[in-house]
Amino acid sequence: MSLPNTVDVLVVGGGPVGMAAACTILNNLPQESRASFKLLVVDRNISVHHIPQNQSRAIGLHARTFEVLAEFVDEPEVREKQTGIRGRESAPILQDAASVPDRVDSVTQSLLERGILLTKGGLRLSGRPKPILHMKMASALQDSQFQQICCIPQRVTEAVLRARLNALGANVEGGWTVVDIVKKGREGKVLVTLEHDKLGRHDVETDFVVGADGGHSAVRQLSGLAFPRQSMKEPMILADVKTADERWPFEYKTLGYEGVEGGDTFCKLGFGLLLPMPGNWLRVAANFLPPDFDPGLNHVRGPNSGGHVEGHGPTREQMQWVLDQYLPTDAEWMEGGSGDRSKKPGEIVEMRWSTVFKIHHGIVRSYLEPETGRIALIGDAAHVHSPMGGRGLNNGIQDATSLGMTLVENLDSTQEARQTALQSWADERRKIGLMILNETNQQTVMATLKNPILQFLRNCLLRLLAFFPSVSREMIRNMTGITSRPEGWKPNLLNA
Ligand SMILES: Cc1cc2nc3c(=O)[nH]c(=O)nc-3n(C[C@H](O)[C@H](O)[C@H](O)COP(=O)(O)OP(=O)(O)OC[C@H]3O[C@@H](n4cnc5c(N)ncnc54)[C@H](O)[C@@H]3O)c2cc1C
Repeated sequence: MSLPNTVDVLVVGGGPVGMAAACTILNNLPQESRASFKLLVVDRNISVHHIPQNQSRAIGLHARTFEVLAEFVDEPEVREKQTGIRGRESAPILQDAASVPDRVDSVTQSLLERGILLTKGGLRLSGRPKPILHMKMASALQDSQFQQICCIPQRVTEAVLRARLNALGANVEGGWTVVDIVKKGREGKVLVTLEHDKLGRHDVETDFVVGADGGHSAVRQLSGLAFPRQSMKEPMILADVKTADERWPFEYKTLGYEGVEGGDTFCKLGFGLLLPMPGNWLRVAANFLPPDFDPGLNHVRGPNSGGHVEGHGPTREQMQWVLDQYLPTDAEWMEGGSGDRSKKPGEIVEMRWSTVFKIHHGIVRSYLEPETGRIALIGDAAHVHSPMGGRGLNNGIQDATSLGMTLVENLDSTQEARQTALQSWADERRKIGLMILNETNQQTVMATLKNPILQFLRNCLLRLLAFFPSVSREMIRNMTGITSRPEGWKPNLLNA
């Protein structure tokens, strides 16, 4: 398709965050502007299905993300009829959860019926069956319609957002890379040059640019927005695996589990993560490496690495070694469990994806380009940080819906009023981004302690905190973004 020469909003990046921004704008345009408003979404990937089938990437969607998607992205009529899922242990998972129709009206409903709904999480110490901190979502999220963490592969989240974008009459124009940006001050529009392998160069003049082009954002670089960042010293590894007994560990009471949950386990070497995914897959991750593993970091730099520097993933055997360090996988621990005791229930029998990466943490100095006030950054383009708590993608989607609404609400405003609204959006989102960056940094430091004395002190502190349920309640509310609701926001619990 030939691209327009002039648009009202150009969204650069058709990842989850760019699509959420585009959906918010189109879904909330006033009736009288719908026919004339021009929005263009471009992505350098030629194919929209650029995340390989086996890769899950970000897998946990939080309560606040569902609240903003329900409020701003779902079709308003569907939203009114939607039934709440408060207190539900799980939604029925569709037979073929990975396949998504071409168009959807309710992003929230489509995601909820395709993901595993986690109602609890725990912090554990390896070798101790009882979690030191047990977190129950429903009691912490009383005032939200969405009281679960939805575990769903990013590929499926993207397919659902794409289907919503299609239903709103738009799509992602693939194969176009942003290569130049010319700013013309506050009054002039922004001129963006796109380049296509086969179709050559194309200039688009736009009133506003949404930079949602990931951790290595070209929009950020071309607009001269500073992005100080640091790299974590140690790499992390992760893998999606299946184990010999698909009920392991969640149905093994001797391991301290009473049903499906997710969380971190601290061990001598660092920490390990376990999260369930649809189809009996488990996400395992750790901040320590097997002894015989050379990650070859920096050899491969993923084109959409979102701030990660990737190397070669560990093998199934190496991942098994890692899992064995933080969670018992053998039969001795399975007292009370049923099944064949001669087998290791937690033995990894299949691994569809493994990777190793270094995490950067940083945040752009300003989410809004100050010279023109016509270029904003959202998602990984604005912030990258540790995956603790799985907050990156959630924060990005929340940036996207709030920016989309600020743009729509100021369509008819004077240039000055729009500037003021956008600046206050940018300040607010940066404040939240900075808070997440600091929190995830602190959590990473605590989780990756290597000194045995410091580990002991940390574990004592966690045990102490367990006596104060309000602490874990606050941790959940922070992690799920509920504490970042705008002042005065009222939840819609009508259908609860
Ligand atoms: C291997 C891996 C594992 C991860 N695991 C987790 C996890 O467990 N938990 C978690 O929270 N997060 C995880 N993340 C991070 C998560 O995937 C990102 O936070 C999320 O993708 C951010 O979405 P985004 O839309 O901002 O950016 P992206 O998903 O990076 O999308 C940016 C889009 O912009 C396009 N683009 C880039 N440059 C240009 C250009 N010049 N012109 C046009 N288009 C351009 C890209 O093609 C891409 O489609 C992981 C990331 C990776 C790579």
